[in-house]
Amino acid sequence: TALLEAQDVTFSFGATPALRGATVSVAAGEILAVMGPSGSGKSTLLHCLAGILVPDGGTITFAGERLDTLREGTRTELRRNRFGFVFQFGQLVPELTAQENVALPLLLAGTARTTAMSAAREWFGRLGLDGLERRRSGELSGGQAQRVALARGLVSRPQVLFADEPTGALDSLTGEQVMDLLTAAAREQGTSVVLVTHEPRVAAYADREVIVRDGKLTSTVCVL
Ligand code: ADP
Ligand code: ADP
Repeated sequence: TALLEAQDVTFSFGATPALRGATVSVAAGEILAVMGPSGSGKSTLLHCLAGILVPDGGTITFAGERLDTLREGTRTELRRNRFGFVFQFGQLVPELTAQENVALPLLLAGTARTTAMSAAREWFGRLGLDGLERRRSGELSGGQAQRVALARGLVSRPQVLFADEPTGALDSLTGEQVMDLLTAAAREQGTSVVLVTHEPRVAAYADREVIVRDGKLTSTVCVL
């Protein structure tokens, strides 16, 4: 059964339709790759599933409850407590240390600073980042910064991790390291992953692959 589901979702940016009846679901613990050409609506679909954008039509259901009809404050709270995010260009806060960046989702959710910082600390060993806790993002390599961003996405033990081109800014070897760590951590804690990528090699890490074209899901390919 689906943990997270979009049913017949439509969304337009002004006069530009981005989604035209998109239906897709993610099971608990499943890693789903969303592929498709540039401009086909992948990021918009991810933003609708994550409750960042509210669809013009259709429904988003998370754990059996409508997500799209929640009030904005309730949606934001659900996002903070249940979802994690990793983006293409790490998007670390440059003024904060790497460890503070990882602790940020917990701090925003109201966790005490000492608790948040020690939970953040554990991820440095796990992701091969020992000794980099006090660095700022400008003092990290691309691969290190993206592993810090991955730790930030997972630190709250989210039910769903949304990853939008998480390897897009990395060379292929570094990208594979990030995907190895991302999928291992997600499987270990039973986190579902919605992975937007245009790289088949990255999509190969998923349990299942779907393709978006012109704002619709066109075909489903099983990756085994
Ligand atoms: P993809 O992630 O597959 O590249 P997007 O979901 O980013 O596709 O975009 C889908 C369509 O919506 C494209 O035509 C894109 O130009 C348009 N679009 C996306 N974001 C915006 C925005 N903020 N304002 C206007 N149009 C947008
Ligand atoms: P992606 O690589 O995820 O497809 P894009 O390059 O399509 O990302 O978009 C990057 C950002 O620019 C997103 O926040 C998206 O909403 C915005 N964007 C995309 N297309 C447009 C557009 N035509 N007009 C305004 N903003 C856009």
